[in-house]
Amino acid sequence: MDFNVPIENDRVVDDFRIRATLPTLQYCLKSGANIVLMSHLGRPNGKVIPEMSLIPAGEKLADLLEMPIKFSDDCISENAHDVSLGLRGGEIHLLENLRFHIEEMKNDPAFSANLAKHGQIYINDAFGTAHRAHASNTGVAKNFTYKGMGFLLETEMQFLSEVIKKPKQPLTVILGGAKIDSKLGLIHSFIGKAQHILIGGGMAFTFLKAQGKDVGNSLLDESMISTAKSIMSKARGKTKLIFPKDIVCAESMKHGDQTEVFPAGKIPDHLMGLDIGPETVEEFSKIIEGSGTVLWNGPMGVFEVDGFQKGTQNIALKLVEITRGDAMTIVGGGDSTAAINKYGLIKEVSHVSTGGGASLELLSGNPLPAIYSLEL
Ligand code: AMP
Repeated sequence: MDFNVPIENDRVVDDFRIRATLPTLQYCLKSGANIVLMSHLGRPNGKVIPEMSLIPAGEKLADLLEMPIKFSDDCISENAHDVSLGLRGGEIHLLENLRFHIEEMKNDPAFSANLAKHGQIYINDAFGTAHRAHASNTGVAKNFTYKGMGFLLETEMQFLSEVIKKPKQPLTVILGGAKIDSKLGLIHSFIGKAQHILIGGGMAFTFLKAQGKDVGNSLLDESMISTAKSIMSKARGKTKLIFPKDIVCAESMKHGDQTEVFPAGKIPDHLMGLDIGPETVEEFSKIIEGSGTVLWNGPMGVFEVDGFQKGTQNIALKLVEITRGDAMTIVGGGDSTAAINKYGLIKEVSHVSTGGGASLELLSGNPLPAIYSLEL
């Protein structure tokens, strides 16, 4: 399972990923299976860090399933194995954070074998880690004759594979967020496939700078300027790359700072671009309206701060509108998911992916080790 959820003051503050696992769990429970659940949370790097305990995730799951859940504070202790072996039909046993053991991320075979002692059938439903080759999702599978994917993993693969293989045309890809480099693979994989790639968020400024425009004090990745240039020339004649025309600017990201809209190439030196402006929202919206499939990864601005979230919110609402028509809309990436969740629109688009990195890898055309290890 991917129970890698945000936790504050020992409580889960966003349960989207936990809810997404319920279909598989309910199916197993109905079938009379005992369930042993494994997951990681955060990056404790082999140390026991109490703030990264899975206890709050277990409590949330117990609430959602309305049943008690057994918990072991070490995923491979003798005691934990005894609890698993002693389960009676329909009981659930959650193991503590796998990454409290460094062997998990090292895909250590002995650790995998120890994890495998917990059960007789292995089901992977953790899409969020499917791009990693770790003990609990690749190594462990070798120890099972009976193995497969859960409903969440299956749904993620179906939706994301469809966008790559046979999207309903025209296909539009919307990209945003801060980091260009994490989205390079995706851009390359959709040049020639998508009719439009709309680029907003902080990453747009590197492209604007590459076009010789003034981006003021905005986020800029100097090391990516030549890459941005080569992407623009690769796309010429194949896919239209659309950049912001106007930008909401302020002196800093702080909430309440005075904001002003400037044309994209004329941001004063002392200001930062922090959201797409109204003209850009209009242009992006028109393209979205004419699309058969829209894939969205990365917010259009600093959506976490009220003054800079309008662009992201408007794009989210546009996606909802075309989903009510006949379009397929897919949202991937941790921050776009957080944004669409913030606006209460998760159920209003065709699919919201639970995996940021995994969806980027899959959409970039790279194989996911966790899927291969299931030998399907
Ligand atoms: P990423 O992980 O690359 O998808 O980046 C997501 C983050 O990008 C979010 O936390 C946003 O606040 C941030 N972001 C979006 N637009 C901007 C911008 N114009 N300037 C700085 N950060 C931004």
